[in-house]
Amino acid sequence: MKRILILGGGFGGVYAARTLEKLLKAELNRSEVELGLVSRDNYMVFQPMLPEVISGSIGIVDTITPIRRLCPRTNLYTRIIESIDLKRKRVVAAAGFGSQQLYLEYDHLVIALGNVTSFAGQPGLAEHALPFKYLGDALVLRNHAIHVLEEADIERDPEMRKSLLTFVVAGGGFSGVEAVAELNDFVRAAAKSFKNIMPEQIRVVLLHAGGVILPELPESLGRFAQDLLMKRGVEIRFDTRLQGATADAALLASGERIATRTLVSTVPSGPNPLVAALQCQKDRGRIVADAHLELPDYPGVWAVGDCAHIIDSRTGQASPPTAQHATREARCVAENIVASLRGTAKRRFAFKALGKMGALGHRSAVAEVFGVKLSGFVAWWLWRTIYLMKLPGLDRKIRVAVDWTLDLILPADIVQLRTDRSVGIRREHFEPGEVIFEEGGHGDWLYIVVDGEVEVLKRVPGASAMSLRRLGPGECFGEIALLGDHVRTATTRSVTAVNLLAVDREAFEALFSTLPPLRHFFERLIEERMALGERLTQADGTPSAAHRARAAARESASFR
Ligand SMILES: Cc1cc2nc3c(=O)[nH]c(=O)nc-3n(C[C@H](O)[C@H](O)[C@H](O)COP(=O)(O)OP(=O)(O)OC[C@H]3O[C@@H](n4cnc5c(N)ncnc54)[C@H](O)[C@@H]3O)c2cc1C
Repeated sequence: MKRILILGGGFGGVYAARTLEKLLKAELNRSEVELGLVSRDNYMVFQPMLPEVISGSIGIVDTITPIRRLCPRTNLYTRIIESIDLKRKRVVAAAGFGSQQLYLEYDHLVIALGNVTSFAGQPGLAEHALPFKYLGDALVLRNHAIHVLEEADIERDPEMRKSLLTFVVAGGGFSGVEAVAELNDFVRAAAKSFKNIMPEQIRVVLLHAGGVILPELPESLGRFAQDLLMKRGVEIRFDTRLQGATADAALLASGERIATRTLVSTVPSGPNPLVAALQCQKDRGRIVADAHLELPDYPGVWAVGDCAHIIDSRTGQASPPTAQHATREARCVAENIVASLRGTAKRRFAFKALGKMGALGHRSAVAEVFGVKLSGFVAWWLWRTIYLMKLPGLDRKIRVAVDWTLDLILPADIVQLRTDRSVGIRREHFEPGEVIFEEGGHGDWLYIVVDGEVEVLKRVPGASAMSLRRLGPGECFGEIALLGDHVRTATTRSVTAVNLLAVDREAFEALFSTLPPLRHFFERLIEERMALGERLTQADGTPSAAHRARAAARESASFR
């Protein structure tokens, strides 16, 4: 029996499995071939429709299709893949409910693992920017947008209100433009249900590194798209790069900061870590496959989709990372695996893209199909027709058609689904000079410095704040308010750019009450810090002689 194993349940993996099922019907019936597919989720996401999940014009689960229904003759392993051993021809999948990893051996392996969102090299993005690639991302963004509208409606501080009503999307390519168009339509329509939000208070900003958006399309279509978005109230910042983020701002390469509580980044995507770990030929992180989509050094191992570097035999150009290419590569790889099994000739990959389309919300889109440029309603109608036809599964087609029809007549749904479980621990990033928390505020988090330096400051009536201490990597702060249920006894500010681990009250209390050594550590730390605070301030709150002496000593030490 020959074992064919496919890694990844996206366009590449699922279409390869579907084609193999068709081509190997007889072999599967005679149990001469076994087909397996490993993927993290048991569904395939139809990414082109993902932006519409933000606005709710498509139901949350209508853009996904269960893989079992699409490939009924394939054994589906819904597991996270941990490693691929090309030499031993073995894939290891993580343990499920039990503690047993799964070892899967193969004769033919198809790698279709796509790429991943990568915020490497942009400080604060991993902590504070919302990615936009998976179904969960669209859902999180939708819920987040509703949440900030709810907060803005009751917020009294005008600055905070402004930042709550500012939405920033970075990336003027297809996914960024489609996301900003849907987000803009959604927040403006949803805001009508909020008594205290005026339409002119909403600011939606698109950051684009080039001079014209949608560089994948002819310039005239990019210009049409940007004029249309600007007419609808999207502010486009051209030749602008996102450099980093904090909890309350998008930081631009020019040094400008845009105060916002919603930053979506569609820009970077990096190689899947499993692909990065493979010892095989790569081109800019993508697996190099030959004209038949096989790895030159590993016969029987094939690569398709976004994770593969494939030269189109017709054009001599590398195939772009799109769904239309991934599905064609998948069919080609299935045919070539069958050819290998039967000892017949393999086919070289060649595909002429049919066109490119981008939806702009509000019944308009831009498209270039068979070289013909279209924009506005006609392009939008074509977009919907083509993608509805391409959406796998009749049930999904019907659901989406119904969603679209209802969306024409019903108002924007503003129900916020709270899917997040208790946070426990999260990462936070601050640029130099930012306040992490304010003296007198309510304290719900303990902070641990990962890297950088923070300063603890105490208010002094009629004088500038007094520095109590500086903390560096491995040190923690914020425990006093958390343990005693007090308000914050000091202000904390970043001295340098700083990365923190923030532990929430519930997680901290669970650790504190069950780990006696930790309890003793914090009790001692609080005692020491309280005593120092008392020594450094007099009864009237002004710096004590001890503090002045310490400051003088520090000053003299720095002159040595
Ligand atoms: C918002 C958005 C809109 C888009 N719109 C269009 C469009 O209109 N037209 C178009 O042609 N293309 C579009 N694309 C691009 C298109 O979606 C991709 O090119 C396509 O999904 C690539 O398919 P793939 O199979 O290579 O990778 P993916 O679809 O990314 O599939 C990778 C699979 O591998 C699985 N996986 C990864 N790592 C592991 C692991 N460790 N363990 C288990 N499973 C794992 C994932 O769960 C996933 O199932 C869009 C992309 C996005 C993000």
